[in-house]
Amino acid sequence: GGINFDAYDEIPVETIGSEVPPPVSSFFQIDLGSDLELNIQRCGYKKPTPVQKHAIPVIMAGRDLMACAQTGSGKTAAFCLPIIAGILKGPNGFSETRGPRGAGSRAASPVALIICPTRELAGQIHDEVKKFANRTRVRVAVAYGGVPIFQQLRSLQGGVDILVATPGRLVDLIDRAKVSLQNVKYLTLDEADRMLDMGFEPQIRRIIEENYMPPSSVRQTMLFSATFPSEIQRLAADFLSNYVYLTVGKVGS
Ligand code: ADP
Ligand code: MG
Repeated sequence: GGINFDAYDEIPVETIGSEVPPPVSSFFQIDLGSDLELNIQRCGYKKPTPVQKHAIPVIMAGRDLMACAQTGSGKTAAFCLPIIAGILKGPNGFSETRGPRGAGSRAASPVALIICPTRELAGQIHDEVKKFANRTRVRVAVAYGGVPIFQQLRSLQGGVDILVATPGRLVDLIDRAKVSLQNVKYLTLDEADRMLDMGFEPQIRRIIEENYMPPSSVRQTMLFSATFPSEIQRLAADFLSNYVYLTVGKVGS
C-alpha cells in the first residue's frame, strides 16, 4: 500500500537497449493468461506501476533486464508476473531431478530462482509469488538462513517451480544436493546492491558462475537494484546478455 500512482505517472523513465518492447498501460494489455489475470484482480492491483509497465513486456518478450527503481515502486510483481505467466505457458513437465542415490536424495529443480538479501525480503517475495500463483499448478518455496533447515527441506521435497532464496542458504542446499539449478530458466537477483553491501558477492558468483545453472545464453536473467554503482554495472555485464536497461525515477550511483 501507500503508492501514489498519479504521482508515479510523472516519474521519468529511461530505457536503453536494442529493440526494447514498448510499455503497457494495463495488466490486461499483455497476455498473462486468465489464471494470473484473475489473481491480479483478487490482489486488488488495478493498474501497473511505472516499473511494471516497462519491465513486464520486456520480461514477457524473453529479454534480460537490468532495472533500477526505488523501494516501494512495485518491483516484485514486475518480475513475478512474467515468470509465473512464462511457467504456465511452458511445458507442464517434471521439475524434479533424480539425485545420485534413489529415495530421499531427489533434488528440487526449480525453473525460476529468485535470490534476495534477507530473510524478511525472502518472506515478502514468497508471499507475493504465492498470491499470484494461487490456484495454479505453480509450486513455490522459500529458503533462508537463521532458522533450522529441516522444514525448508521438507517443503522442497514435493517439487518446486519457483524458489525464493537468500545466497547463503541456497549455497548450503546446493552443497547438500537438495537443490539443483540445472533447469533454471528464469534467474532474478532482487536488491542486488544490498546483497553486495552485505558481502554476498562470492556466494552469488558461485551460484551463477560455477556451472550449477544454464549459461546466460540459455536462461533469462533479471537484475533489480535501487542504485546503479559500478559494482552493479559489473554484475550486469557479467550475468546478463543483450539486456534492456530500465531506470525509473532518479537513481543514485
Ligand atoms: P519494491 O520491491 O519496488 O520495493 P514492492 O514490490 O514490495 O516494491 O511493492 C510495494 C507495495 O506496493 C506492496 O505492498 C505491493 O503489494 C504494492 N503494489 C505493487 N504493485 C502494485 C500495483 N500495481 N497496484 C497496487 N499495489 C501494488
Ligand atoms: Mg523489492
